[in-house]
Amino acid sequence: MKFSETDLICEDIMWFGIDKNGYIFECTSAGVGNVPSFVCESREETDMLEEYFLNTAAKTTVGKILIKDEENDLCNDCKTLSSKGIFCYDAVIEDNHHDYIKIAEPEEPITINDLPDKIKSIMESHKVDVDVTTEIDINVQHAYSDEEEQDSGYRFRQVICPFCKHQYMTRVYNEYDLIIKHNGELLYGWKDRCTKCDSWIYVIDNQLEGVDPSSFPEDEITEHFILR
Ligand SMILES: [Zn+2]
Repeated sequence: MKFSETDLICEDIMWFGIDKNGYIFECTSAGVGNVPSFVCESREETDMLEEYFLNTAAKTTVGKILIKDEENDLCNDCKTLSSKGIFCYDAVIEDNHHDYIKIAEPEEPITINDLPDKIKSIMESHKVDVDVTTEIDINVQHAYSDEEEQDSGYRFRQVICPFCKHQYMTRVYNEYDLIIKHNGELLYGWKDRCTKCDSWIYVIDNQLEGVDPSSFPEDEITEHFILR
C-alpha cells in the first residue's frame, strides 16, 4: 500500500536512505518533512525497515547526539539508531524549505554492504545525493511535488493561529479567498479555521503568522467566495 498525500501530513514517518558513500541515514518526517517517492511507494517496506533498524539490527558503535538529550521518542530512537551505525535527521521548515537537520551520528558508520540481503535490496533504491559525513542537512524532492499540487487546485502550508499560537497545516487553494487593502498595501490570502481553538483567522500568502480578521476594517477586505 502507498502513502497518500494526506498520510504524509497526518503521520510521523521514519524513513531510511543511503548517501553517496553507501552510508545509512534515517529521517523523521513529523508530518512536515518532504518524503521521497521511493518511500511512499510501499508502506510495508517502510515498516519493515523501521522494524529491522530499530529492533533487529545489532548495536555496533557509540552514537553521538547533537541535540539536547531528553526523555522522548525522538531522542530515544536516534540514540538507538546512531549506536547501530546510522546517521539521524529530523524535519525542519525554514523559509518554506522542508529540510532535515542532522541530530545524531555514529562514531563508526555502517554501509549498505553490512545489511542482510532482504534489507539491502530495498535500500538499493533509496539513494539520495548527499554526503552524510559532512552535510548537516538533507533536502529531498517531495513525492507529491508542487506541480501535482498545482494541478489539484490546492497546496498545503503551515500557519500559526494569532489567538492560541497553535501551529498547524492547512490546505489553501490556488485562488485567493480574500484581498485586503491595508495601508496602501495589498495582502492576498484565505479564510481558515484554527484546528485547535476553532477561531476564524486569515491566512496571508507568504506569511507564517495568521491574522485576526477583526484587525482590519470591513471596507478594506474583498472576499471572492465563501470557503467551505
Ligand atoms: Zn487557535
